[in-house]
Amino acid sequence: MIEIRELTKIYRMGSVEVRALDGISLEINKGEFVGIMGASGSGKTTLLHMLGLLDQPTSGSIVIDGTDISLLGDYEKTMFRLYKLGYVFQDYALVPDLTVLENVSLSAMLRRDKTQEQTTRDSFEILEKIGLCDRKDHLPRELSGGQQQRVSIARAMVNKPDILFADEPCANLDSENSRMVLDLFREINEGMHQTIVMVSHEDWHKDYFHRIVQLKDGKVISDGVNIRGQDRHTGIDP
Ligand code: ADP
Ligand code: MG
Repeated sequence: MIEIRELTKIYRMGSVEVRALDGISLEINKGEFVGIMGASGSGKTTLLHMLGLLDQPTSGSIVIDGTDISLLGDYEKTMFRLYKLGYVFQDYALVPDLTVLENVSLSAMLRRDKTQEQTTRDSFEILEKIGLCDRKDHLPRELSGGQQQRVSIARAMVNKPDILFADEPCANLDSENSRMVLDLFREINEGMHQTIVMVSHEDWHKDYFHRIVQLKDGKVISDGVNIRGQDRHTGIDP
């Protein structure tokens, strides 16, 4: 479903060039829970930004579900992101003055093909799945970091994206909250067959991935099935 060919991203700052991605080719299948791993500066965030249509590659191609995204105009890209992709960020990025329910609904409301009743229904449904219905009227600051991150996952999931992207979603969490967030990712991968591409540099997160792509200096240095994560997986649909 995602086909990446010879992807290169060069950042130019004055006369300095940084080759953040250096010819990456990969395929990611429907239903996979893929971990993108590697040291700081290896290109993980850059790769996720390219796949999530948040930035443009210098060269190479990305085809998602048969659509070559380099051929999309700005408006089409926005619609593609809204209808097909979901994002979870390191710092949650919730709107501070909106309640949990409003944060989740906002994302659903942007879709023009849903009525208000449907938006509300979808928001409740996902909050229920994620176990945060009892916090629906709370503001983000009244929640723990782990709960805030689970709200941001609900927000990303409310439109039932084809692909869920997460960039170091546990970076600001202690290990107990990290585990809750990772368990939730596992649940939505296994229960809803959600395709998830998650960036991490924590070794113990490997237990959750059933495939690990390792980056170094903007290149893929290994890519393979993860036995530890594969054990538990049931829903692959290659
Ligand atoms: P990671 O997420 O693995 O830590 P990044 O993708 O953020 O790595 O960065 C890869 C390389 O690209 C690093 O050398 C980083 O300094 C550089 N880089 C990232 N973003 C920019 C930018 N906006 N401008 C210039 N250089 C950047
Ligand atoms: Mg990063």
